[in-house]
Amino acid sequence: MANHRRIFILGCIVFLSLVFIVSYFTSKRNVPPKINPTVQKYFSGTSQEVSVYLITGEEKGPTLLIFAGIHGDEAGGYLTAERYAAVKVKKGTLIVVPRLNLPAVLKKTRHGISGDMNRLFHMPERKNYSPDAKVVDLAKDLIKSADYVLNLHQGEGFYSPKWISHKRNPLRWGQCNVIDAPIFDLPNGDKLELARFAEKVAARSNAVIKDKRYYFQVNNTNTASRKSLHKEQRRSLTYYALYKQHKTALALESTKNCSLSQAISFLTIATNSVIAEVGILAESLPRTDPATIRAEIREKKT
Ligand SMILES: [Zn+2]
Repeated sequence: MANHRRIFILGCIVFLSLVFIVSYFTSKRNVPPKINPTVQKYFSGTSQEVSVYLITGEEKGPTLLIFAGIHGDEAGGYLTAERYAAVKVKKGTLIVVPRLNLPAVLKKTRHGISGDMNRLFHMPERKNYSPDAKVVDLAKDLIKSADYVLNLHQGEGFYSPKWISHKRNPLRWGQCNVIDAPIFDLPNGDKLELARFAEKVAARSNAVIKDKRYYFQVNNTNTASRKSLHKEQRRSLTYYALYKQHKTALALESTKNCSLSQAISFLTIATNSVIAEVGILAESLPRTDPATIRAEIREKKT
């Protein structure tokens, strides 16, 4: 009798093991293969098409959202962003929107079909206040899904906290990491330490940049302050991301006073620095040497 019971229990164990193994492999087989990156196109068939690349790593981590092409006369920005569309992420998530304002990019002008898109983010959502409203609403939805937000630009001259020259002064934008506030107090009592973050990103970038004239500096526009030199930025994408959605948001600005391959190199160095700082891991990141970038640009033209 004891023998029968042993055989019965053993049989049960073997049967349950088989059920487990078969169901395990069946469930694996039913998981659709991961397409990485996934590309979602919005407003297809219109002049305002927006491609959004979503690249998710196997390991969980932070989500970094990279915008560019909000201004169409800043080719360094959108040509840098599109280099991240094919990055293989191991940990964390990248969302890349290389050409947010396609009409502006195609015209190579700051404005697209209705003025400066980076001055519309104070407007209410889902209201048809401008032909660009639907694109701004899409950008706002994406911002809500991110932990960190970048907006890539190119500006004239070189930012400097002190007035050095006509080209290098507090009103210039080139070679800086722009923040809207040094510290932002969250409703739960925590703080977003933007200045600390932007300084760390600048330090990482400047460790790679050989020529000191192109070092990145932190440009705190103190946008909400009465004394701000840049009150117009209260209508910008990064201000919305910080003040309305409480995200760590930076605008990365390369100078326009350099070659296109150099500008892409500087913005790639800065973006790679952000990726390292937030703890996203990738198999490899875009190369930063201008020679490689020049070759990439030539290849695209042919
Ligand atoms: Zn810009």
